[in-house]
Amino acid sequence: MFFDINKGIKVSYVCLACHEKEEIPLNVVKDFDLMNGGDPTTPPMFSCEKCGEQMYPEYYKGVHGIEYKLSDIR
Ligand SMILES: [Zn+2]
Repeated sequence: MFFDINKGIKVSYVCLACHEKEEIPLNVVKDFDLMNGGDPTTPPMFSCEKCGEQMYPEYYKGVHGIEYKLSDIR
């Protein structure tokens, strides 16, 4: 029997332009992170459904152990 510890955990993303919030499942964020490849200085980013601008995670610790906080870029 498998138990996925990531199941149900979500990362809060905030749009940098209109401040719309979206909860994105952690496993989806991690998949993006892994595909992101080369650049560990930026977290996986998603497009805002309202305005199309980039969304930044409120708090996310990446697969490379780097922490990203929305407060860092404000
Ligand atoms: Zn937006």
